[in-house]
Amino acid sequence: MTEVVDPSTGEALGWVEPTSVEETDAAIGRAHAAFARWREVAPGERARVLRRFAAVVDAHLEELARLEVRNSGHTIGNARWEAGNVRDVLDYYAGAPERLTGRQIPVSGGLDVTFHEPLGVVGVIVPWNFPMPIAAWAFAPALAAGNTVLLKPAELTPLTALRLAELAREAGLPDDVFTVLPGAGSVVGERFVTHPAVRKVCFTGSTEVGARIMAGCAAQVKRLTLELGGKSANLVFADADLERAAATAPYAVFDNAGQDCCARSRILVQRSVYDRFLELLEPAVRALRVEDPSREGAEMGPLISAARRDRVAGYVDGAKVAFTGSRPDGPGFWYAPTVLLADSPADRHWREEIFGPVVSVLPFDDEADAIRLANDTEYGLSGSIWTRDVGRAVRVARGVEAGNLSVNSHSSVRYWTPFGGMKRSGLGRELGPDALHAFTDVKNVFISTEE
Ligand code: NAP
Ligand code: MG
Repeated sequence: MTEVVDPSTGEALGWVEPTSVEETDAAIGRAHAAFARWREVAPGERARVLRRFAAVVDAHLEELARLEVRNSGHTIGNARWEAGNVRDVLDYYAGAPERLTGRQIPVSGGLDVTFHEPLGVVGVIVPWNFPMPIAAWAFAPALAAGNTVLLKPAELTPLTALRLAELAREAGLPDDVFTVLPGAGSVVGERFVTHPAVRKVCFTGSTEVGARIMAGCAAQVKRLTLELGGKSANLVFADADLERAAATAPYAVFDNAGQDCCARSRILVQRSVYDRFLELLEPAVRALRVEDPSREGAEMGPLISAARRDRVAGYVDGAKVAFTGSRPDGPGFWYAPTVLLADSPADRHWREEIFGPVVSVLPFDDEADAIRLANDTEYGLSGSIWTRDVGRAVRVARGVEAGNLSVNSHSSVRYWTPFGGMKRSGLGRELGPDALHAFTDVKNVFISTEE
């Protein structure tokens, strides 16, 4: 049995039975059998089932949000958004089965058409930082396209996924179409990679494990989507609305206690406004409400575990601390939001993904310098550009090697638009109008009209 803990108190919440290899194999077998039936369900009926699933999630929004607050330490405001995101992503992809059209391509001697065929069983491996949304970004389009889904939540945060599986049943999803298998990555997750009946793996987590999964999938030419780490830049130019840039910067990195692959954990500030920006940033960081995440208005909760807190602290030891925010006393895995001054881009805290409430700040000289420093990383997930110059915004957005950029905003994830990383931040894209195609293979059929 695996203990599940409330990170804001450190107290046990309950126990979850981990799935064994034999049980995983049996579930894969059932999902494979269910695929033959699910893909034959008429598109309109598949759409209706997904809409019902969305409606049932909506009816349990507050319950799901409260469960996430307890299991993951997310602020109640964030957790409500996350549960709402599951509903919205289901609703969005419920529109897809009836619109999954192929093409008719002009050829000589006959009729040529393409079909987007579902793949089969899809294995989804989810990390602990956003248990609900990351799961939904995979299972909603996968189910819409006619696949069956096995979902492995992180060992630390299985509770909302298990509840979503119950809600799916309540909504009328047929047996074995969507199954949640709590357990270890090295057992359940690994089996998704090695079992030939699993035809695609969606993995979100560390670059290290992602690279190993990619190598494993290669042996079977298994389809794969990877959403991995990040070390995203927040570029603040001298001509920006500095007040807004400084007021919003803490949320861009300390949201979810910095445990966000899109966290803007490197702030690059043009040298002429560097001192002024830090002056404006300090009160914004100090004012951040770090408190019991179940309190309305809480802006940051605890870290997920004591081990994570210790890792984060290891990056701050010996670094130049500009200032910190607050943290509650008492039990729980708390860490105060911390702003570090980088001496150079070689600093360890500037280069490595910390995955905690720590941000590093470094000045730059001009536009070319800003782009060079932003790209001086193995990662390429997201980033922000603050400037009032439209031409510069476009030039820099084109110059930064990252999959998701925002100008005068810190938005990363919107379910209408594609999301994913360049370089070692990932492979493939989730969300948006094209995500269905990541869960299908194109089949081309030529029909001769010769007599
Ligand atoms: P991780 O080890 O990559 O775990 C992510 C998921 O993969 C979990 O469900 C995990 O299961 C599973 N897993 C682990 N080893 C596996 C294997 N050999 N085969 C298949 N699945 C496996 O990430 P983590 O340890 O939770 O966090 C470490 C670092 O990853 C963080 O510091 C951060 O840098 C990065 N991270 C990034 C994201 C992101 O959104 N891109 C999310 C989380 C973490 P278990 O629950 O059993 O470990
Ligand atoms: Mg790990």
